[in-house]
Amino acid sequence: MASQNFTYPSTQLLIDGEWRGGIEGKTIDVVDPATGDAIGTVAHATRPDLDAALAAVERGFAVWSQTSAYERSKLMRKAADLLRERAGTIAAIMTREQGKPLAEAKGEILAGADVIDWFAEEARRTYGQIIPARAPGVMQMAIKLPVGPVAAFTPWNFPINQVVRKLSGALAAGCSIIVKAPEETPASPAELIRAFVDAGVPAGVVNLVYGVPAEISEYLIPHPVIRKISFTGSTPVGKHLAALAGQHMKRATMELGGHAPAIVFDDADLDKAVKVLAASKFRNAGQVCVSPTRFLVQERAHGQFLDAFTQAAKAIHVGNGMEEGSQMGPLANERRIPALEGLIADAVSHGGELKAGGRRIGNKGNFFEPTVLANVPTSARIMNEEPFGPVAIVNRFSSLDEVIEEANRLPFGLASYAFTSSAETAQQLGLRIEAGMTTINHNGLALPEVPFGGIKDSGHGTEGGSEAIEAYLVTKFVSHAA
Ligand code: NAD
Repeated sequence: MASQNFTYPSTQLLIDGEWRGGIEGKTIDVVDPATGDAIGTVAHATRPDLDAALAAVERGFAVWSQTSAYERSKLMRKAADLLRERAGTIAAIMTREQGKPLAEAKGEILAGADVIDWFAEEARRTYGQIIPARAPGVMQMAIKLPVGPVAAFTPWNFPINQVVRKLSGALAAGCSIIVKAPEETPASPAELIRAFVDAGVPAGVVNLVYGVPAEISEYLIPHPVIRKISFTGSTPVGKHLAALAGQHMKRATMELGGHAPAIVFDDADLDKAVKVLAASKFRNAGQVCVSPTRFLVQERAHGQFLDAFTQAAKAIHVGNGMEEGSQMGPLANERRIPALEGLIADAVSHGGELKAGGRRIGNKGNFFEPTVLANVPTSARIMNEEPFGPVAIVNRFSSLDEVIEEANRLPFGLASYAFTSSAETAQQLGLRIEAGMTTINHNGLALPEVPFGGIKDSGHGTEGGSEAIEAYLVTKFVSHAA
């Protein structure tokens, strides 16, 4: 789609089934990260809107928790089909507000539809247990019930996929939800939610707000109507919100930052490693919580891997995501440019070698060069802080024990990658890397049917696989004597 023929929509709140502006009439501009131009606005919720959303989500819970799993499942599958039908249009909206290439945006939307289908199936399998009783005539049951109204907070890097896992898990379990979606990229998540409204979800079951994130979370999390929260974002904000949730005894799922090791052994298929890891690194301009960051390459393979990976980085065509041929778009937020420049300068001042990139491209839009650093000491900030951008650090190691120690050095534990042809090495890595996810010889992460989540400072809870729906369920014990 040519960008000049496309009108970006302004975004409203959804409260109690009604799309509307904020009661106080506040809006904020949405900026195209490829041009720096304001392209639309998003309505801001203030306290009266939040009160209306809380009243609606409470009524919505009464309705939805009494809707059969069979009906919920049917409606969710209809929403998934609508999302698939609309994927082309929504992809253009997402690219315009977030920057990622159209093909990536479309892929995210289709993957989102698959997530809805997965949870729609799970909705019908929230089995409990019958527990053998000690006395005749006693029936002991453990049943699964929805936890209650949910508040979900999602970031701008995957505007649809960060919402869809929380929304689908909640709806499948019978919970209602208030989604606080990202102000930077508001229109594509609104289209996701429109698919559910158009599929027939009753008023109040799904509510959508935007505003000042801290003001919204600090009001919703302690509020007695909200029984469960789910947050995706940075570790410092996650710790703050988890503490607030703990103080008010609210269940919480935390999907936070990472600093993924990508370990390449001498015996690996290097061509495959370069291909898979370059695609994983530069997807979404590296603004991915599971993005490979610390490339740890064994001594004999280091030189060859570094040359090939640097070539792969230099070959990436960076451009406006709306244009054919763009393989990497701009960074979603202008604030990431000085953040990356600072991390790269610090790495070089610590003796790291800049092999590719390292600079902003042009002075319009947030374009940044695919960047490769080599031999960066662990004292550099970038070896400890999540860069959240298109920067790879290619260091070397000699032994398995040494590389596992480096992989586990940081407080993060989200994704990890490895390439080796040794079954023995692969088994050791699977067991010993402290991470929620390890993928070996390919990128097998993030399918709806597999667990997705972190350990340590990367958070807790899983947003994929058969355990994901549990986050939205409570176990109730019922003992019944005849
Ligand atoms: P940030 O820490 O300011 O914000 C991260 C996200 O949290 C944003 O969506 C923001 O709106 C939200 N947020 C911030 N304070 C909040 C609060 N008090 N209550 C509720 N929500 C709040 O960082 P940023 O500049 O937007 O992004 C950069 C960093 O965020 C990255 O370094 C990365 O660690 C993290 N991040 C992680 C993910 C992920 O997928 N896990 C996604 C986006 C950002």
